[in-house]
Amino acid sequence: MIDFKGFVRFMRSLFNDVSIFRRELIQNALEACRQAEVRHGFSKCLISISVDSDEGVFSISDNGVGMTADELRTNLTVLFRSHWPSSEDGSLGIGQFGFGFHAVFLVADRIKVVSRSRCSPDEAHEMDFLSDQGVDIRPIVGNLPGFGTTITLWLRDDVRHLLDEDDTRNDLEKTFLYTHYPIHLNGMNV
Ligand code: ADP
Ligand code: MG
Repeated sequence: MIDFKGFVRFMRSLFNDVSIFRRELIQNALEACRQAEVRHGFSKCLISISVDSDEGVFSISDNGVGMTADELRTNLTVLFRSHWPSSEDGSLGIGQFGFGFHAVFLVADRIKVVSRSRCSPDEAHEMDFLSDQGVDIRPIVGNLPGFGTTITLWLRDDVRHLLDEDDTRNDLEKTFLYTHYPIHLNGMNV
């Protein structure tokens, strides 16, 4: 298991703008949507983000390609490696360094990922990261969520300002001006 506190210190020394976690998650969600379209012919993807500053929670859902338990484990717990299928269609993909998702640790000590893969429709999994306890992946029993991935972050007190809805909307409008898939923030189109 990695030295979590050391890792967060290292990450923070690389990035002075910790809000990059938002862009990384959205880029992944957009790529997951693109994969759903390219590999499964599903073109009605959308990305839905919610910020709740009272609860200190940021969450992002996509109804894209999703991840199996193995993919959750290898794609999100192994650092510095990209796992998007390497560009059969000639495009470069969005994140080539496999660093992106781990930006969440800049802002959160507790993270939950729920995912159902379009490649494995009869199962879904949830994964918890707790900074001091490591990773736990469990199958979801009973009602399965829709296809795709939901990532929930509980932000640390010192970065809760990142949950301001207006600021988030402004940043998203600047960064994701024309996306191929709609992005909603707290239920409203960005
Ligand atoms: P990169 O995007 O550079 O590959 P990330 O750390 O951002 O690196 O993501 C690691 C891997 O996790 C991705 O390559 C992808 O396989 C998987 N992944 C991340 N987010 C999602 C998502 N929303 N849906 C499906 N797969 C995802
Ligand atoms: Mg990425």
